[in-house]
Amino acid sequence: MTEADQPGAAGTVLFPGELPPRRRIFTNRNLRMGSITAIGFDMDHTLAIYNVENFSRLCFDMALERLVADRAYPESILAMPWHPDAAIRGLVVDKKLGNLLKIDGHGHITRARHGTSFLDRDQRRGAYPRGRTRIGTPRYRVFDTLFDLPEGSLYTALVELAARGEVPLHVSFRRLYDDIRETVDTLHADGTLKARIIADLGSYFIRDPDLVPTLGRFRAAGKRLFLLTNSEVEYTGAVMQHLVGGEPGAWEGLFDEIVCTAGKPGFFLERGPGRAVEPGECALLPNHRGCAYVGGDCFFLERLLEASGDGILYFGDHTYGDILRSKKSVGWRTAMIVPEIETEVANLTPLRGAWQELNALEEQLEDLVEARDLLRDREREQGTDETEALARLEKRLGDALGRRARLQRQLRAAFNPHWESLFREGRAASRFGRQITEFACIYTSRVSNFLGYPADKFFSRPLEVLPHERWALPES
Ligand code: IMP
Ligand code: MG
Repeated sequence: MTEADQPGAAGTVLFPGELPPRRRIFTNRNLRMGSITAIGFDMDHTLAIYNVENFSRLCFDMALERLVADRAYPESILAMPWHPDAAIRGLVVDKKLGNLLKIDGHGHITRARHGTSFLDRDQRRGAYPRGRTRIGTPRYRVFDTLFDLPEGSLYTALVELAARGEVPLHVSFRRLYDDIRETVDTLHADGTLKARIIADLGSYFIRDPDLVPTLGRFRAAGKRLFLLTNSEVEYTGAVMQHLVGGEPGAWEGLFDEIVCTAGKPGFFLERGPGRAVEPGECALLPNHRGCAYVGGDCFFLERLLEASGDGILYFGDHTYGDILRSKKSVGWRTAMIVPEIETEVANLTPLRGAWQELNALEEQLEDLVEARDLLRDREREQGTDETEALARLEKRLGDALGRRARLQRQLRAAFNPHWESLFREGRAASRFGRQITEFACIYTSRVSNFLGYPADKFFSRPLEVLPHERWALPES
């Protein structure tokens, strides 16, 4: 972040419209911060910004070792290269056919990759029926968090090896994915992955100097603050200490309540056993003020906070576990943290002109095709000779198509080389993009972006323009 980007830099006030786009807060539903009495935060990928590349690489390497050691995979897989670009959030694994899928906001499969090869249109249509695909079945798994990306790299690489026949893998595509999933799950749950991270926190987290001032501003505006994480006490203590610094355990003072090992999404759905963090249990989360808990449920937490439903705003990164469940089950307001906005928006900024031109060109193409088809109709219906006019139109169409292809290539370079934008698929929103707009009240790239806005801001949703109104209101 450059100095000019610092929303809270002393002596300067940037109007929200002047904030760099990658640091802005985007509104889907009206949210009056003045009506919010308690603000909660997920930890991993929300308060704690991971170095996703370093984390994914570590997880990839450790999972390969485990697959060989515990599940008798051939040792040669240890030499498989790690490809950081293999997966993005929102992709869906099809365990039956061994594919990674990108799905648009209407539920249509728009890209399918088997190993490192994309299915062409005919192959895709042969494998998947047209129309909306129901992915809420055991055949599919969605990558809802950045923690899931290493699984995409592992599956891509192993399916590719199997497809080439270089390494005999005597398992089905379904078993292969389940082996990867169970292995990664164990690495998280048995503490081995976390032990490696705790031993080298500087490599796995990006400290944000604006985080503590942001929490301080919320507090000064009279909000009760809480931390609600699925991470265990030890890990939470170590990570928060690293991010906040100061005396060991002093970071606890930033929050009125702390809940670890929360078991979201179940936390929002059913009653669960909980207990206070024991004195002496963890030096970096000492529970000095008696307000740190393990487990429990949201009913208990709401009583502690003396707040409920839409008086609570929760920040999270997990589309389902944090955002959808807290909103649908208990009616909390939601702020989704999407760190990928920073890179996508930064990459798109120098290409803004190309993007605008592409959009204008799409409309022009539609007009040209329509004009050509009308001339053809006239020839057929009225017997006129439109040869010359048609030739002129075909030439303009050819030029526009060529220009469109060049612009599309230019824009593609701003995104993931295989999957392109996280948020969109061509002219439509991706499934992930659609979910953000449906389930999150507001979304932004990091918590500290709030420093650039008034503490009691009324976030008001932008005007929704329906197709029949576009002639009157050009989209900006
Ligand atoms: P939160 O985002 O702060 O709620 O916590 C995420 C926690 O879930 C971290 O402690 C992760 O290590 C853990 N986690 C992520 N993926 C898995 C998994 O597949 N199995 C078990 N734990 C996981
Ligand atoms: Mg999280």
